[in-house]
Amino acid sequence: MTGGAGYIGSHALKPLESAGYDVIVYDNLSEGHQDAVIAGKLVVGDLADEKALDAVFKEHNITAVMHFASNCYVGESVSEPQKYFVNNLANTLNLLRVMLANDVKRFVFSSSCSVYGAPITLPIREDHPRAPVNPYGMSKHFVEQILAVYAKSYKLRYATLRYFNAAGASSVENIGEDHDPETHLIPIVLKAALNEGVTVKVYGDDYNTSDGTCIRDYVHVDDIISAHILSLDAIFEKDRSFTFNVGSGAGYTVKEVIKAAKEITRKNIDYEIMQRRPGDVDSLVASAAKIHKELGWEPKRLKLADIISTAWNWHKNNPAGFDDKEEGR
Ligand code: UDP
Repeated sequence: MTGGAGYIGSHALKPLESAGYDVIVYDNLSEGHQDAVIAGKLVVGDLADEKALDAVFKEHNITAVMHFASNCYVGESVSEPQKYFVNNLANTLNLLRVMLANDVKRFVFSSSCSVYGAPITLPIREDHPRAPVNPYGMSKHFVEQILAVYAKSYKLRYATLRYFNAAGASSVENIGEDHDPETHLIPIVLKAALNEGVTVKVYGDDYNTSDGTCIRDYVHVDDIISAHILSLDAIFEKDRSFTFNVGSGAGYTVKEVIKAAKEITRKNIDYEIMQRRPGDVDSLVASAAKIHKELGWEPKRLKLADIISTAWNWHKNNPAGFDDKEEGR
């Protein structure tokens, strides 16, 4: 697994262990946290370092790869596109090259709803045209296309999972979302609840939505992980490739997120309306019918309040994120 020290990858570790997989985490710890690696074996390394990566494949009997490592900020991808094309695209090609050289042909890829760009129809189905409007979405779209080619030429078997907005935290393990800097809405809102005087910046209230703020489909990180495990099992069993949306199918505006967070935290959360953020589109809501039909996937936490509650639990107990644990080292 790459990116196992990151937010989503770390949530996969225990469930994979319970499903009977031995996990090797390959992560450069550039954004992840050593303390998030709560199961499996951590190898600190960079995807740009093909030699180190190759050594991992030579040393272990690897049968499949889940590729979580990725930069994931839409706004940053507009100002620093090179970072996104190198880390998300070129480094994924390195990983695939090393995999194929070692005859490893099962791959679960963390893609994104941003491959669709501005949706023409809602909810978005997997066959909706892909027309990304920011370099982050482009980097994922390029990899998706390359995977389809490699499937034909090299018999790679992949599951492309197009996440909508990953949110929440484990309700069992003490792990959660801790990015530095944080740019994602729910952690920002919860940090504002923890720190009086911090004002949430709402990026635009002139979108074509019920209250003018952007609509997103928030899906619990544990549900994203169950989609991963079902997909991996399906690759093993059916020996074919899949592409699925992973979203809850419900959309909430930025203002609705803030309102729900106020109710859960019982804190005042101030916000101010700012300019639109470059790269944003007004609404992104998934149709998750395909993964439900083909793999029987169903999100366990559908209500926004349930999702935010698990995130609040993590932030409240770990106000400095993983630094709470790391500072004693
Ligand atoms: N957003 C916001 N203020 C913030 C962070 C995000 O208004 O401080 C909005 C953002 O414009 C988008 C939504 O919240 O419409 C979700 O953004 P996030 O960065 O969490 O995820 P993304 O959709 O970019 O993956």
